[in-house]
Amino acid sequence: MISLLAALLLCLLAGGASGETTLPPADDEWIRVTTPHFSIVSNARQGASKEIALQLERFRALVEGEGSVSSRPSTIVIFRDEVSYWPYKMNRQGKPANVAGHFASTRDGNYIGVNADAGETPYSVIFHEYTHYLLNQTFAQIPLWMNEGRAEFFSTVRMRGDRAEVGRPVEHHVRLLRQRKMLPLDQVFLMTTKSPGYNEGTRQGLFYAQSWVLYHYLMMNSAEQRRRLPFFLRRMEEGDVPTETLFESTYGYDFEQLEKKLKLYVQANMFNFLEYRDRDLGSVESQVQPMTRADYLHELGDYLAHVTPWRAEDAAAHFRESLRLDPKQARSHASLARLLEDEGKMLEANEHYAAAIENAGEDYFPFFAYGMSSVDRFLARKPKIFARPKQIPKEALAARGLLARSLSLSPGLAEAHYALGITFLFDPNGIAPAIEAFETAREMMPTRMDVVYYEVLACLQAGDRKSATALIEQVLEPSGEKNWVQPARQALSSFR
Ligand SMILES: [Zn+2]
Repeated sequence: MISLLAALLLCLLAGGASGETTLPPADDEWIRVTTPHFSIVSNARQGASKEIALQLERFRALVEGEGSVSSRPSTIVIFRDEVSYWPYKMNRQGKPANVAGHFASTRDGNYIGVNADAGETPYSVIFHEYTHYLLNQTFAQIPLWMNEGRAEFFSTVRMRGDRAEVGRPVEHHVRLLRQRKMLPLDQVFLMTTKSPGYNEGTRQGLFYAQSWVLYHYLMMNSAEQRRRLPFFLRRMEEGDVPTETLFESTYGYDFEQLEKKLKLYVQANMFNFLEYRDRDLGSVESQVQPMTRADYLHELGDYLAHVTPWRAEDAAAHFRESLRLDPKQARSHASLARLLEDEGKMLEANEHYAAAIENAGEDYFPFFAYGMSSVDRFLARKPKIFARPKQIPKEALAARGLLARSLSLSPGLAEAHYALGITFLFDPNGIAPAIEAFETAREMMPTRMDVVYYEVLACLQAGDRKSATALIEQVLEPSGEKNWVQPARQALSSFR
């Protein structure tokens, strides 16, 4: 008995250490749950999967509020338990990361991984990151304390039955703040990702704790303070008054008093929270479908390729097995083509792109994937852009066809609008549609300065130096993103 067990363990260890791809067991059952804002792929029980889908939809409604548009698709992979999650959470060193949830925001969409068996733990990571995503796509200039403070504030949202609780304390922050001397407040207000003392990796440090307590205090201590917060932020964004002066004129007390108030707030340890009823959040409809193995292998490979991009080989193994089972799996062809393209294997990549388009049917993804990579390839050749084009290059025209098709199937793809605009930029007759496409993309992704840069080029082509200058001075420069401000300025001076 003992030797059998030892042999088994050795096998497992050898399997784990060899770095071979572990595809999920062949008899695994996966379902797809579709809700208005998420596509969920799960091997957990149907009831548990629907419950997680519901929580995410309700969280989104709570944080995003009414009327805002999400500009990219969000895929959630729910793993039944630690055993099935384990192969999908390897870090660069080949060891499983010590997490119960993952979030990655990429050009293709948001990817969220959850261990369904981990109780409430995965939600804090997912809620934190999803809050960042929503905030970052709405505001160009968010002070770091506000971005992290707000993300931490929403990381503790709890759904209980038909209620949601918002503003529960983050216990480890409270503990730390009670033990340690706080950072000077002007340091907290002016912290950037480049400052010493900032460490996004751990989310444990004093800066995170103080950002959280500051946001919690300004939001939850009184309705009057909560009302003043948007004004304070707007004025802070304008950046013409020192933060402390601005704070004092907004709230009627200075940093020294604020520090005392925060200390008392932490010592008292009585944190208010808000409670929402289900009807505030609206109901959520969901559809459940079984998945073929070829389909879920694609989704898992796609998850790997985006969340752990250093595991391209493992992702490719998923796509290849998916295609062995179903040679018409369009998404697996498209995703494999991209990986091959990254490796420089263009011939093989092109064959898979062709197969992807042939089998795409009404699915936007193959058109989107091929169209985006065509535009990337075209731009990588550094085509001349500071002059009016004489003739549209063939590749730009082909990319346009693909992107237009993806948008006809899924009109909300902000990145496709942006890339479509670029194809028009190289078309002698494309000025008006280029500007229109960039405007649409910018509305959906107001924080993306690369989009603004290309819109400046389009305005210059149209001979509209006034709009180009306005975009540079009113959007690009305030963003502080020098890598886009300088080329835009250069374009303005060289375009005649
Ligand atoms: Zn964060």
